[in-house]
Amino acid sequence: MATTILEEQKQELEQIEIWKCKQPECKAWTRKEFVTEASPNCPLCNSPMLRSYKHVPVVHKKGNKKFLLGKARA
Ligand SMILES: [Zn+2]
Repeated sequence: MATTILEEQKQELEQIEIWKCKQPECKAWTRKEFVTEASPNCPLCNSPMLRSYKHVPVVHKKGNKKFLLGKARA
């Protein structure tokens, strides 16, 4: 069924708060929840970091995999 395929391919995204490096050429970023400092520096280039938002795929619990496998076989 087409509806089943669509369900499996749908990528859920969630918005998270992050710190990202001020340098445009530096790709470093980290989840805000992992940072305890009020204004951290980049671990790669030591530049100041800026608060930002990022969309990341929702991580499902491993238990869901079994469910998807069963659906694919049907
Ligand atoms: Zn950096």
